[in-house]
Amino acid sequence: MIFAANWKLNKTQKQAQEFFSVFLQSNLLTESLKNKNELIFFPQALLSEQISNIFNQFLKKNTSLKKEYLSWGLQNIFYNNQGAFTGENSALTMKEMGGSFSLIGHSERRTLFNETNKDASKKIKAAQDLNLVPILCFGESLELRQSGEYKKFILNQLSQSLDCTDTSKRIILAYEPIWAIGTGKQASDQDITEIGSLIKEQYPKLELLYGGSVKPSNVKSIVSQKNIDGVLVGGASLDHNMFLELISV
Ligand code: PEP
Repeated sequence: MIFAANWKLNKTQKQAQEFFSVFLQSNLLTESLKNKNELIFFPQALLSEQISNIFNQFLKKNTSLKKEYLSWGLQNIFYNNQGAFTGENSALTMKEMGGSFSLIGHSERRTLFNETNKDASKKIKAAQDLNLVPILCFGESLELRQSGEYKKFILNQLSQSLDCTDTSKRIILAYEPIWAIGTGKQASDQDITEIGSLIKEQYPKLELLYGGSVKPSNVKSIVSQKNIDGVLVGGASLDHNMFLELISV
Protein backbone atom coordinates (compact mmCIF):
# COMPACT_ATOMS: atom_id res chain seq x y z
CA MET A 1 0.00 0.00 0.00
CA ILE A 2 1.21 3.50 -0.79
CA PHE A 3 0.88 6.26 1.83
CA ALA A 4 1.78 9.65 0.35
CA ALA A 5 1.94 12.73 2.60
CA ASN A 6 1.31 16.09 0.96
CA TRP A 7 2.48 18.68 3.46
CA LYS A 8 1.61 21.58 1.14
CA LEU A 9 3.04 24.92 2.36
CA ASN A 10 3.28 23.73 5.96
CA LYS A 11 6.09 23.08 8.44
CA THR A 12 9.23 25.06 9.03
CA GLN A 13 12.61 23.30 9.30
CA LYS A 14 12.19 23.20 13.07
CA GLN A 15 8.71 21.69 12.82
CA ALA A 16 9.87 19.10 10.28
CA GLN A 17 12.73 18.14 12.61
CA GLU A 18 10.27 17.76 15.50
CA PHE A 19 7.93 15.63 13.37
CA PHE A 20 10.63 13.19 12.23
CA SER A 21 12.33 12.97 15.61
CA VAL A 22 9.17 11.25 16.86
CA PHE A 23 7.91 9.63 13.66
CA LEU A 24 11.14 7.80 12.80
CA GLN A 25 11.53 6.41 16.33
CA SER A 26 8.16 4.73 16.31
CA ASN A 27 7.74 0.95 16.10
CA LEU A 28 4.59 1.63 14.11
CA LEU A 29 6.76 3.06 11.34
CA THR A 30 9.16 0.11 11.37
CA GLU A 31 6.25 -2.32 11.27
CA SER A 32 4.63 -0.44 8.42
CA LEU A 33 7.86 -0.45 6.37
CA LYS A 34 8.41 -4.14 7.10
CA ASN A 35 4.88 -4.77 5.84
CA LYS A 36 6.09 -3.30 2.54
CA ASN A 37 4.04 -0.16 2.76
CA GLU A 38 5.58 2.56 0.65
CA LEU A 39 5.80 5.97 2.38
CA ILE A 40 6.39 9.07 0.28
CA PHE A 41 6.67 12.57 1.76
CA PHE A 42 6.03 15.75 -0.19
CA PRO A 43 7.43 18.63 1.86
CA GLN A 44 7.72 22.18 0.59
CA ALA A 45 10.77 22.37 -1.72
CA LEU A 46 12.91 24.33 0.77
CA LEU A 47 12.89 21.34 3.15
CA SER A 48 14.27 18.91 0.54
CA GLU A 49 17.88 18.82 1.68
CA GLN A 50 16.92 18.48 5.33
CA ILE A 51 14.53 15.60 4.67
CA SER A 52 16.95 13.88 2.35
CA ASN A 53 19.60 13.98 5.11
CA ILE A 54 17.17 12.79 7.79
CA PHE A 55 16.03 9.82 5.66
CA ASN A 56 19.60 8.89 4.67
CA GLN A 57 20.71 8.85 8.29
CA PHE A 58 17.69 6.80 9.34
CA LEU A 59 18.18 4.24 6.57
CA LYS A 60 21.92 3.97 7.31
CA LYS A 61 21.08 3.05 10.91
CA ASN A 62 18.26 0.69 9.92
CA THR A 63 19.89 -1.42 7.25
CA SER A 64 17.19 -4.09 7.35
CA LEU A 65 14.65 -1.59 5.99
CA LYS A 66 14.43 -1.22 2.25
CA LYS A 67 15.24 2.29 1.14
CA GLU A 68 12.61 2.35 -1.60
CA TYR A 69 9.88 2.19 1.04
CA LEU A 70 10.75 5.56 2.58
CA SER A 71 11.18 8.33 0.06
CA TRP A 72 10.30 11.90 -0.78
CA GLY A 73 9.52 14.14 -3.71
CA LEU A 74 8.38 17.61 -4.71
CA GLN A 75 4.82 18.92 -4.80
CA ASN A 76 5.52 20.43 -8.22
CA ILE A 77 8.30 20.43 -10.79
CA PHE A 78 8.85 22.52 -13.88
CA TYR A 79 9.07 20.84 -17.28
CA ASN A 80 12.52 22.27 -18.05
CA ASN A 81 15.41 21.32 -15.82
CA GLN A 82 17.27 24.61 -16.10
CA GLY A 83 17.14 28.02 -17.75
CA ALA A 84 15.40 31.35 -17.38
CA PHE A 85 12.38 30.19 -15.37
CA THR A 86 12.44 32.33 -12.23
CA GLY A 87 10.86 30.71 -9.20
CA GLU A 88 10.44 27.19 -10.59
CA ASN A 89 11.64 23.84 -9.14
CA SER A 90 14.16 21.75 -11.05
CA ALA A 91 13.45 18.02 -11.15
CA LEU A 92 17.08 17.39 -12.02
CA THR A 93 18.27 19.11 -8.84
CA MET A 94 15.70 17.21 -6.80
CA LYS A 95 17.02 13.96 -8.26
CA GLU A 96 20.57 14.97 -7.38
CA MET A 97 19.37 15.52 -3.79
CA GLY A 98 17.80 12.05 -3.61
CA GLY A 99 14.13 12.78 -4.33
CA SER A 100 12.38 10.30 -6.56
CA PHE A 101 8.75 11.41 -6.99
CA SER A 102 6.75 14.47 -7.96
CA LEU A 103 3.11 15.34 -7.53
CA ILE A 104 1.78 16.74 -10.78
CA GLY A 105 -1.41 18.66 -11.46
CA HIS A 106 -2.63 18.88 -7.87
CA SER A 107 -5.98 20.69 -7.83
CA GLU A 108 -4.44 23.59 -5.89
CA ARG A 109 -1.90 24.01 -8.71
CA ARG A 110 -4.71 23.89 -11.24
CA THR A 111 -7.03 26.35 -9.48
CA LEU A 112 -4.56 28.77 -7.86
CA PHE A 113 -1.82 28.72 -10.52
CA ASN A 114 -3.85 27.97 -13.65
CA GLU A 115 -2.07 24.74 -14.49
CA THR A 116 -3.55 22.87 -17.42
CA ASN A 117 -3.61 19.28 -18.61
CA LYS A 118 -1.02 20.28 -21.21
CA ASP A 119 1.31 21.49 -18.40
CA ALA A 120 0.73 18.21 -16.55
CA SER A 121 1.59 16.26 -19.67
CA LYS A 122 4.89 18.14 -20.12
CA LYS A 123 5.77 17.69 -16.45
CA ILE A 124 5.06 13.95 -16.56
CA LYS A 125 7.38 13.64 -19.54
CA ALA A 126 10.08 15.69 -17.77
CA ALA A 127 9.83 13.46 -14.68
CA GLN A 128 9.91 10.24 -16.68
CA ASP A 129 12.89 11.42 -18.75
CA LEU A 130 14.81 11.52 -15.46
CA ASN A 131 13.35 8.20 -14.27
CA LEU A 132 11.42 9.97 -11.53
CA VAL A 133 7.93 8.76 -10.67
CA PRO A 134 5.10 11.21 -11.38
CA ILE A 135 1.93 11.11 -9.31
CA LEU A 136 -0.74 12.68 -11.47
CA CYS A 137 -3.60 14.20 -9.46
CA PHE A 138 -7.01 14.46 -11.07
CA GLY A 139 -10.61 14.91 -9.98
CA GLU A 140 -13.77 16.87 -10.47
CA SER A 141 -15.27 19.93 -8.78
CA LEU A 142 -18.54 19.78 -6.85
CA GLU A 143 -20.28 21.51 -9.73
CA LEU A 144 -19.19 18.80 -12.17
CA ARG A 145 -20.16 16.03 -9.80
CA GLN A 146 -23.61 17.51 -9.37
CA SER A 147 -24.04 18.00 -13.11
CA GLY A 148 -23.41 14.27 -13.64
CA GLU A 149 -20.66 15.05 -16.18
CA TYR A 150 -17.81 14.05 -13.87
CA LYS A 151 -16.82 10.75 -15.49
CA LYS A 152 -16.47 12.35 -18.90
CA PHE A 153 -14.46 15.19 -17.34
CA ILE A 154 -12.11 12.80 -15.52
CA LEU A 155 -11.43 10.65 -18.58
CA ASN A 156 -10.72 13.76 -20.61
CA GLN A 157 -8.41 15.14 -17.90
CA LEU A 158 -6.49 11.87 -17.88
CA SER A 159 -6.24 11.37 -21.62
CA GLN A 160 -4.93 14.92 -22.12
CA SER A 161 -2.49 14.74 -19.20
CA LEU A 162 -1.19 11.29 -20.12
CA ASP A 163 -0.77 11.86 -23.85
CA CYS A 164 3.08 11.80 -23.79
CA THR A 165 3.41 9.25 -20.99
CA ASP A 166 5.75 6.30 -21.29
CA THR A 167 3.55 3.54 -19.88
CA SER A 168 6.52 1.18 -19.62
CA LYS A 169 7.72 3.41 -16.75
CA ARG A 170 6.05 3.78 -13.38
CA ILE A 171 3.37 6.43 -13.03
CA ILE A 172 0.81 6.70 -10.26
CA LEU A 173 -2.64 8.28 -10.51
CA ALA A 174 -4.31 10.04 -7.57
CA TYR A 175 -8.06 10.56 -7.65
CA GLU A 176 -8.73 13.65 -5.56
CA PRO A 177 -12.26 15.01 -5.93
CA ILE A 178 -11.90 18.73 -5.26
CA TRP A 179 -14.98 18.78 -3.03
CA ALA A 180 -13.29 16.26 -0.70
CA ILE A 181 -9.94 18.03 -0.30
CA GLY A 182 -9.48 19.69 3.07
CA THR A 183 -13.23 19.73 3.64
CA GLY A 184 -13.59 16.78 6.01
CA LYS A 185 -16.06 15.22 3.51
CA GLN A 186 -14.44 12.17 2.00
CA ALA A 187 -15.90 10.49 -1.08
CA SER A 188 -18.10 7.54 -0.16
CA ASP A 189 -16.88 3.96 -0.67
CA GLN A 190 -19.33 3.76 -3.55
CA ASP A 191 -17.91 6.93 -5.20
CA ILE A 192 -14.36 5.57 -4.87
CA THR A 193 -15.30 2.16 -6.25
CA GLU A 194 -17.05 3.74 -9.21
CA ILE A 195 -14.04 5.86 -10.17
CA GLY A 196 -11.62 3.02 -9.33
CA SER A 197 -13.34 0.69 -11.82
CA LEU A 198 -13.55 3.40 -14.47
CA ILE A 199 -9.83 4.14 -14.20
CA LYS A 200 -8.61 0.56 -14.01
CA GLU A 201 -10.70 -0.35 -17.06
CA GLN A 202 -8.98 2.41 -19.00
CA TYR A 203 -5.50 2.21 -17.41
CA PRO A 204 -5.21 -1.31 -15.97
CA LYS A 205 -1.47 -1.16 -15.33
CA LEU A 206 -1.37 2.12 -13.41
CA GLU A 207 -1.51 2.33 -9.63
CA LEU A 208 -4.35 4.41 -8.20
CA LEU A 209 -4.47 6.42 -4.98
CA TYR A 210 -7.43 8.13 -3.37
CA GLY A 211 -7.02 11.54 -1.72
CA GLY A 212 -9.47 13.85 0.04
CA SER A 213 -10.02 14.05 3.81
CA VAL A 214 -8.33 10.71 4.53
CA LYS A 215 -7.90 10.22 8.28
CA PRO A 216 -7.27 7.35 10.71
CA SER A 217 -11.01 6.74 11.09
CA ASN A 218 -11.73 6.21 7.38
CA VAL A 219 -8.45 4.92 5.93
CA LYS A 220 -9.23 1.26 6.49
CA SER A 221 -12.38 1.22 4.41
CA ILE A 222 -10.69 3.32 1.69
CA VAL A 223 -7.64 1.08 1.27
CA SER A 224 -9.77 -2.04 1.30
CA GLN A 225 -11.60 -0.83 -1.82
CA LYS A 226 -10.88 -2.93 -4.88
CA ASN A 227 -8.65 -0.99 -7.32
CA ILE A 228 -7.20 1.35 -4.68
CA ASP A 229 -3.44 1.00 -4.17
CA GLY A 230 -3.02 3.64 -1.49
CA VAL A 231 -3.86 7.13 -0.27
CA LEU A 232 -2.64 10.69 -0.69
CA VAL A 233 -3.04 12.50 2.61
CA GLY A 234 -2.95 16.23 3.29
CA GLY A 235 -4.11 17.50 6.70
CA ALA A 236 -3.79 14.18 8.57
CA SER A 237 -0.15 13.76 7.51
CA LEU A 238 0.94 16.86 9.44
CA ASP A 239 0.47 15.28 12.85
CA HIS A 240 2.93 12.46 13.58
CA ASN A 241 0.52 10.52 15.79
CA MET A 242 -2.27 10.71 13.26
CA PHE A 243 -0.03 9.73 10.36
CA LEU A 244 1.50 6.83 12.32
CA GLU A 245 -2.00 5.56 13.08
CA LEU A 246 -2.93 5.92 9.45
CA ILE A 247 0.06 3.94 8.08
CA SER A 248 -0.58 1.16 10.56
CA VAL A 249 -3.92 0.22 9.07
C1 PEP B 1 -4.51 16.91 -0.75
O1 PEP B 1 -4.59 18.13 -0.84
O2 PEP B 1 -3.77 16.27 -1.52
C2 PEP B 1 -5.32 16.24 0.27
C3 PEP B 1 -5.61 15.00 0.10
O3 PEP B 1 -5.72 17.02 1.35
P1 PEP B 1 -6.63 16.55 2.63
O4 PEP B 1 -6.18 15.17 3.03
O5 PEP B 1 -6.33 17.57 3.67
O6 PEP B 1 -8.05 16.57 2.16
